[in-house]
Amino acid sequence: MSETLAHPLDYLLRTDRFPHIWCSGCGIGIAMKSLLLALENLKLPLDQVAVVSGIGCSARVASYVKLDAFHTTHGRAIPFATGLKLANPRLTVIVFTGDGDLAAIGGNHFIHAARRNLDLTVVCVNNFIYGMTGGQMGPTTPLAAKSSTSPYGNFEYPFNLPRLAAASGAVYVARWTVFHVRRLITALEEAVMKPGFSFVEVISPCPTGYLRRNRLGDALEMMKYFKTHSKIVHGTLPDEDGLDVRGEIILGKFVDRERPTYHQMMRRQLAAFMVEPYVEKVHDEIEAVEG
Ligand code: SF4
Repeated sequence: MSETLAHPLDYLLRTDRFPHIWCSGCGIGIAMKSLLLALENLKLPLDQVAVVSGIGCSARVASYVKLDAFHTTHGRAIPFATGLKLANPRLTVIVFTGDGDLAAIGGNHFIHAARRNLDLTVVCVNNFIYGMTGGQMGPTTPLAAKSSTSPYGNFEYPFNLPRLAAASGAVYVARWTVFHVRRLITALEEAVMKPGFSFVEVISPCPTGYLRRNRLGDALEMMKYFKTHSKIVHGTLPDEDGLDVRGEIILGKFVDRERPTYHQMMRRQLAAFMVEPYVEKVHDEIEAVEG
């Protein structure tokens, strides 16, 4: 007699969509589970939480979570999330994305949402490669790393995503790996609760598109690498030109600062120029969200 095993997080998953598409050893599932555990710990009303993704292996998360979720077009998760937040400021809006989706195709949206300090949480799984489309070089591929489009090794400087987010205006910036699950869950909780633009980078193995080509072993070896080659430095942004193939990985909560959000700035500006009752209506809506 067959028996179906239940998972404690099934109530947050669209199990009818399983089996998932992720390769054996991929770290995206750990990142997704960390987000779900963070939401469970926060006890937020789940009908007030929306997850938005673009395209790519990481973007599949939007299809698997049992929340209001939007699996949108490549690189455009942040514009869709922006629309959601503007239409309903009460929503907790989380963008779950990958390095190529966020920093290449969606790069402009990323820096401008951070500049506006819109109250979004962006979770980026960085596995240094375009996984779904065939292991092409992306904006975070380390120098000298091989990919399907850099067979002799990458010679373009990669982005340092935490520095990019912070320089653009993000108020919360952290980086963890899929090995550091407890710290990652805490960071996700903090990022979701932080008013303003929050960014959490999650370093993760892509055995199929990245590890194999760069002779970095399997996913288990990469997890050991994350354990032995990580250094936690809170409060200071890492100054590397992107991560190295085999270098040290600086992790931590780099930025946690206060800055008026997009909605607070809008309220301030409208109050200076507009008349009642329009301003009062905007006040009431924003007070209801931000107190
Ligand atoms: S291609 Fe890479 S990122 Fe995509 S599911 Fe497979 S291991 Fe994960």
